[in-house]
Amino acid sequence: MDQKIFRQIFHSLSTAFFPNRCLACGRLYHRPFSLSEQNSHVHPEDMNKALLHFTNKFVCGSCVPNFSIVESPVCTMCGMMFVSREGGDHLCGKCQKEPKHFTTARAAVVYDNLMTNAILNLKYQGRIRLARPLGSILLLAFLHYFSEQDLDIIIPVPLYPGKFKQRGFNQVFLMIQDWETQLPENGYWFPCKIHKKILQKNKNTSAQTGLNKEQRVKNIKNSFHIENQSDISEKNILLVDDVYTTGSTVNECAKMLKKGGARRVDVLTLARTT
Ligand SMILES: [Zn+2]
Ligand SMILES: [Zn+2]
Repeated sequence: MDQKIFRQIFHSLSTAFFPNRCLACGRLYHRPFSLSEQNSHVHPEDMNKALLHFTNKFVCGSCVPNFSIVESPVCTMCGMMFVSREGGDHLCGKCQKEPKHFTTARAAVVYDNLMTNAILNLKYQGRIRLARPLGSILLLAFLHYFSEQDLDIIIPVPLYPGKFKQRGFNQVFLMIQDWETQLPENGYWFPCKIHKKILQKNKNTSAQTGLNKEQRVKNIKNSFHIENQSDISEKNILLVDDVYTTGSTVNECAKMLKKGGARRVDVLTLARTT
């Protein structure tokens, strides 16, 4: 039988018996069939296509339009989106008062209801199928913001070993581990290595959710260490995390990396609060 027809029949049968639950509204829906979704290479300027690839798979038709990309004007340091959509990027009041340990933090999309559910499903329900399409969105943000930058190492924010054992995976590493295979075939290559062992978490902190800014800073303080300082000496590092809320976690990681001799630390997250 023709492979396309076979796939179509298989898809119709499987969606009839196993409808999807929409990640945004929680309703059951039948996923539309698309032959093109087999192609999973990203196209550098096409964030909308990566978002569509993700929403086609996990979001019902009526929730698809509710997606917000992080767009300028943003803070040149922490990446916060300014409420006024006019003018260019500039430093926000908070970063003027208290500069961060990293140089810039950038995010792909706004941390809305859909992204909250997507990340919670990946982290706590073990829906690791979400990692690759979410990773494509993150990769596009990487190409957009950091492809011109001189980077040496990419480091996913680590989990405490006990938590890693319990969960079985680091969701950030899952999202970025096969970036190289998703790059467009022509003219793109991966400029740096992903290292998941350089930065380690040595304190089992409680979840940052529900804590205010001061509590978050206190909770995360001194909870990371550098395995081998010579690995990061004079290096330009990109830290990757799933969500940027107050920035306390990535700022603490950046502090440790700078203390350990890193030249520059930047931050990329999948989502960001507004
Ligand atoms: Zn929905
Ligand atoms: Zn800022």
